[in-house]
Amino acid sequence: MKRNVLIIGAGGVAHVVAHKCAQNNALLGHIHIASRTLSKCQAIIDSIHDKGSLQQPGQLTAHALDAMDVEATKFLIRATRSQIVINVGSPFLNMSVLAACLETGAAYLDTAIHEDPDKVCETPPWYANHEWQRRQACKDAGVTAVLGVGFDPGVVNAYARYALDHCLDRVDSIDIIDINAGQHGRYFATNFDPEINFREFTSTVWSWENSTWKANAMFEHRQDWDMPVTGVSTTYLTGHDELHSLSQNLGVPNIRFWMGFGEHYINVFTVLKNLGLLSEKPVRTARGVEVVPLEVVKAVLPDPASLAPDYTGKTCIGDLVKGVKNGQPEEVLIYNVCDHEVCFGEVGSQAISYTAGVPAVAAALLIANGTWDVAEMVNVEELDPQPFIALMNTMGLVTRIKDRDGDRLLDPAPQLSSAQRLPRRAHAR
Ligand code: NDP
Repeated sequence: MKRNVLIIGAGGVAHVVAHKCAQNNALLGHIHIASRTLSKCQAIIDSIHDKGSLQQPGQLTAHALDAMDVEATKFLIRATRSQIVINVGSPFLNMSVLAACLETGAAYLDTAIHEDPDKVCETPPWYANHEWQRRQACKDAGVTAVLGVGFDPGVVNAYARYALDHCLDRVDSIDIIDINAGQHGRYFATNFDPEINFREFTSTVWSWENSTWKANAMFEHRQDWDMPVTGVSTTYLTGHDELHSLSQNLGVPNIRFWMGFGEHYINVFTVLKNLGLLSEKPVRTARGVEVVPLEVVKAVLPDPASLAPDYTGKTCIGDLVKGVKNGQPEEVLIYNVCDHEVCFGEVGSQAISYTAGVPAVAAALLIANGTWDVAEMVNVEELDPQPFIALMNTMGLVTRIKDRDGDRLLDPAPQLSSAQRLPRRAHAR
């Protein structure tokens, strides 16, 4: 059993993580929230009290921390006696926070691949450039590290593994499809950290084709998909974290990631990029001030968390998995639909933050009760997806499956042992 959680970051995803930890504090214990800005952490705590999210009375504390400082992070982990660290700060922090976990023995979770501020789109597989170099160290220290356990990466990795284990005899392709059919009402905004969001799209698009890496340009390949609830949407082949582990771990020859974009997003993005405003390289202004254009764009765009009150519509994210079953061609779609307004009603967040934050807490609960406490570094597809999917079904992220037998709830709970099932508090959704 591991108890007491330190949440690093106080942005949109951390807000959801903190609420969901609070809803489960009987198992998770004390909850600590740390970022450089104490007031942001305190605001999350205030919203937890406003929403009455605490499952039972318990400790809920804000801390000022620069998580790039490994010694300070180690000190805070020890001082708070946190055995689980959920890193939902910026992806630049991953390797520092992981180092602090390795030295304190705390379990580590994150929702995005590590990024070096000076490099955009490194050589694939991206995990090998950073996190996987600490794989042996995790094993030697017996430290559990679950990488990329948001929605994508995260839940979509679990869906891929589920399809392999339970749906098809042979898998030939996995297309991960991410549609946000919501409207936030602003002229232009990104749904999570704009700096990270743009860095995803400014360089080479890597996909896994015929068991090798294929490079494309952004917006080069377009595909329309008819998804449940959100309907027909236009997507573009996009490079994304999960391809960099799924390609190495599943033995599936074709894995692609498709993200939905409206024309307006593409137009604004193209203008910003062509003007050089999405560059991570510093420039000097006429007044002699050195600025990073991408950081300036981030500073003037809406804070993604501020979009939540006005957001309407739904997201649909899932894996379309094709292959062979009983000698016949077969395909299955495993997916989730999430409603922005429902998320706001429950925890005060939009669905992008919600779909990223809930899985991280589900994973923390599975570490807390031992099910996923594997004492080594893993990506989500290396773990049994069933307890994860079953638990999220009770936490506001419901998984559905669509195949030749119809479209229905995917509920692995009956297959689980009682030790793998967690008693759940009824929640507001
Ligand atoms: P935000 O930009 O809203 O929040 C990032 C937070 O990190 C801020 O609160 C910031 O607070 C904190 N932070 C930055 N630097 C430091 C530091 N040195 N020390 C301590 N805290 C720091 O991002 P989101 O909440 O939208 O996203 C969080 C993470 O989740 C990102 O890695 C993102 O890529 C990932 N994500 C994953 C998704 C998935 O499905 N897998 C989907 C969406 C996001 P402060 O400035 O006060 O330090």
